[in-house]
Amino acid sequence: MKQTDIAIVGGGSAGLTAAIYAAREQIDAVVIDEFAGGQILQADIVDNYPALPGISGGELGEAFRSHAEEKGAEFLECAVAAIDKNRDHFELKLFDGMQESFLQAKSVIYAAGCQHRHLNIPGEERLTGHGVSYCASCDAAFYQDKTVAVIGGGDTALSEAWMLSRIAKTVYLIHRRDTFRAAADIVESVSHTKNIQMIMHTVPLEILGEQSVQAVRLQDKTTGEQRTVSVDGVFVAVGMLPDTNIISHLANIDENGYVIADETGITSCAGLFAAGDVRTKQFRQVVTAAADGANCVNSAECYLRNL
Ligand code: NAP
Repeated sequence: MKQTDIAIVGGGSAGLTAAIYAAREQIDAVVIDEFAGGQILQADIVDNYPALPGISGGELGEAFRSHAEEKGAEFLECAVAAIDKNRDHFELKLFDGMQESFLQAKSVIYAAGCQHRHLNIPGEERLTGHGVSYCASCDAAFYQDKTVAVIGGGDTALSEAWMLSRIAKTVYLIHRRDTFRAAADIVESVSHTKNIQMIMHTVPLEILGEQSVQAVRLQDKTTGEQRTVSVDGVFVAVGMLPDTNIISHLANIDENGYVIADETGITSCAGLFAAGDVRTKQFRQVVTAAADGANCVNSAECYLRNL
């Protein structure tokens, strides 16, 4: 069975930064992902990664990967099907699409990320990247003086609506109930923002547009009445789905499914570290994920030294 000191699960900005730091420290590590690069590959333009203004998501993801490769990082293009701990080492069951294999690791940096929950309505998938976005901090700047819809009623939706209100002409905040799940202070700020129009008790049925988003078709849940609202963009903020199923028997997970860990990445399971969007944190960004990758290597190095 192949062995390593650190198995890095996930090849997004957290995992690839961990790979760069491990390689520079000459720690034996391997990055496991079916396709390294991460969520950022889906972003059109990333305008908030320091020192690289306006870089495309594809270029940034590729730059993370090629930097790790340049430093000599090792990659396994596999899915991780299971992780178990036996005394002082971890066993990872891998699947490359054809066959299973196993990897033994002294420690694991778990950086598998999150998926944005989707609405699963017509037009959503086809227009993703063409007006449908899951990240206002990434894409808000494209909607200067335009009209956008934000779907959702949690902290993310309200924060995004508030952020977009400073750039867009009109923001429709569309929520399926008549009360918000978000914290009272952000609800208060949003309700006093003139260019945010709340459309409550309403669900989106379809996102319309040929080459890019032109409108959203809505249904009032009380009356059943349908209407079409013209918009230039739709921001979907209906929650995240952290990818923690395969480690939930090893480490403590919070009520939203995130691995409980602070900036050190240390989890309740010795030798298992969590980096990036998958861990409990306030602000999920490429820059905070990259910082987690570096911190986790530092924590893993201390752990390995004391084994
Ligand atoms: P969330 O709290 O799970 O809220 C998701 C929202 O989307 C809910 O309002 C939900 O409606 C709605 N929704 C879910 N599925 C939907 C569907 N199919 N169609 C229409 N609406 C749908 O997710 P989140 O806002 O991303 O927040 C996730 C976690 O991060 C939370 O714990 C949150 O507090 C935290 N967070 C904190 C901050 C902060 O600044 N402190 C910022 C962002 C996020 P219902 O309300 O009806 O369920």
